[in-house]
Amino acid sequence: MSRRQMIPLLVCVLVLALMSGCRTTTVGTPAPLATSVTWPEAATSVSPSPVSSAASTSSAPRARQVLILSLDGARDDWADSYLADGTMPNLAALAKRGVRAEWAQTIDPSLTAAAHVSLATGAYPCATGQVSNKFHLSQDAFYWYTDGFDEPEMQVEPLWRTAMRHGYTTATLFWPGTSLLYPDRLADYTVAYGTREVYSRLHVVSPQQAKSWEDAPTSYSPHLEAALAILGRDDALVTTVYVLLVDSADNHIVDYDTFWLCPERQADDRCAQLQPGGWAPLLARPRLHGGGYFKLIQASSDRLEVFQSALWYNEARPADLLRDINERFGFFPPAPDYYALEQGWIDAADYWHMVEVQTRWMGEVDAYVLESYKPHLTFAWLGATDECGHQFLMVDERQAGYHEAKAQQYQAYIRSAYALADEALGRQAGVLDRAQDAVFVVSDHGMAPIHAEVYVNTILEQAGLLCYGQGASYPVDTSASRAVAFTSGGAVNVYINLKGREQPGIVPPEDYTRVQAEIVQALRSARGPDEQPLFARVLRREELSALHLDAPQSGDVFAQALLGYALTDWRGNPSIVEPATYYGQHGYDCTLPEMRAIWVAAGQGVQANVMMPPVHVVDLAPTVATLLGFPPTDTMAGHVLRAALR
Ligand SMILES: [Zn+2]
Repeated sequence: MSRRQMIPLLVCVLVLALMSGCRTTTVGTPAPLATSVTWPEAATSVSPSPVSSAASTSSAPRARQVLILSLDGARDDWADSYLADGTMPNLAALAKRGVRAEWAQTIDPSLTAAAHVSLATGAYPCATGQVSNKFHLSQDAFYWYTDGFDEPEMQVEPLWRTAMRHGYTTATLFWPGTSLLYPDRLADYTVAYGTREVYSRLHVVSPQQAKSWEDAPTSYSPHLEAALAILGRDDALVTTVYVLLVDSADNHIVDYDTFWLCPERQADDRCAQLQPGGWAPLLARPRLHGGGYFKLIQASSDRLEVFQSALWYNEARPADLLRDINERFGFFPPAPDYYALEQGWIDAADYWHMVEVQTRWMGEVDAYVLESYKPHLTFAWLGATDECGHQFLMVDERQAGYHEAKAQQYQAYIRSAYALADEALGRQAGVLDRAQDAVFVVSDHGMAPIHAEVYVNTILEQAGLLCYGQGASYPVDTSASRAVAFTSGGAVNVYINLKGREQPGIVPPEDYTRVQAEIVQALRSARGPDEQPLFARVLRREELSALHLDAPQSGDVFAQALLGYALTDWRGNPSIVEPATYYGQHGYDCTLPEMRAIWVAAGQGVQANVMMPPVHVVDLAPTVATLLGFPPTDTMAGHVLRAALR
């Protein structure tokens, strides 16, 4: 998901004028029709052929329910080994009785928000407009960016809308790019990724004599309490959560051993019991159905240390579905908190705990919607494989804090994440009927280790292209800056403050080419401590059609880092390169083996026992359309994988 977002999201919803399709369509070789387990020597780049809308209706028996499950960031070669060693038995069983592609090539840049929109639409970013996880829109102020998760671009129809036009009921469950802000793009049933109301915090407080509590349990030392202030934006008080300290042992010793966590000074069934070192969920915001997880890190009569996760709530449509999920499953569990991990508030085991809780919860909700609402077509998303890839990919001695034992422990977490995702797959596939339904398991990109972060705006500043105003957050001085960078993972879009296009616009059109060349030069000549380049490729806007990125939202310069480097748009950092504080990243050249995704399908209408040559993520939508029995739309650039279908 959206990581390392250094510039606060600014809410500004503006609808882009309809753009024409991509300037060019690369016509590649049609995907070979593979029917056996051997395949020809694979090309490193997979280019699907355009689909004719006439190539449409399948005579194959149609699936009753089709589930498309994306395991975010599931990397092809890791999945290979986890299928072989028993880590992913459910996916292995699907692959065995269905179709598996050697790998799936993703789009450029190999990023979650962009790739999920391409998976859903069968179109490239140049057509969808979702060119990255975040990007700048020229109608916004020059320092503004749009978050591709919160305000996704989706300028062509997603498959669920096409399916609805053909009379099917559809659902999207946590699928990136399905913001409730855009009701005309939604499926019949939408469960969005939860919404965070407040950020996480470490509370260190001194317990006081307890005030009047209702129903306080017997304590053999005077009741103590601590009030935890839950603070929102600008440290405004959102609510208060109370901890009641109880000494339950009649042993003439002051030893508080029971810790009640309550939304009010009332010890009732709304409270959770905290144990030192343990976690407990609390519905801290009952009216919003919002809550979080709390961990009692340390407790004594004079010091209480409590980690409070971010507080989240569910978002779903229609309202009945939201009510149903709130009542049956409770609040949206907090996302694994890499910020808290980096701050040292929680440790790796706690991070893993958050991954586990959230993944199991999402898997249960998925299974419930599949079983109870019976949508014909469901797109579901799970993040564990991506989150643990980012956090635990310690494989390189250049990585900060590298230690062999730690690397082994971290490797075990990654393996556990794949096992956990597989468990959720099993739960979902378990409510489907293998004789009547079909399941596709895909991913959006792979993952590569990083050891350093590159501060792209520092490169621009040192080249005299970017100037800061006064202020601790290093605001962009838009009256003096000629360029600004917005990064996502290993990719960056750099925008020129072009007169007539940007606000305020200080670069006259006649200087555009020169400034663009300055940016290209600055990025190409940037060097790490080893005097080696930092970028694998630096392209001008005019060159982006080769990557299917020729869209107005793309930068005037687009670049992708060399493997090993993550990019950041954090402003004001004095040096260009710093050691990275996490270990895995993506967004790199989509043809790199490390960026390869997975693609498995099985069930009604799907071939049995077929190993396919590499496929492309844009092939998914036209293939599923064909399976469901309606023609792919003209906007789908992908190929119908006929060899996968019966
Ligand atoms: Zn992803």
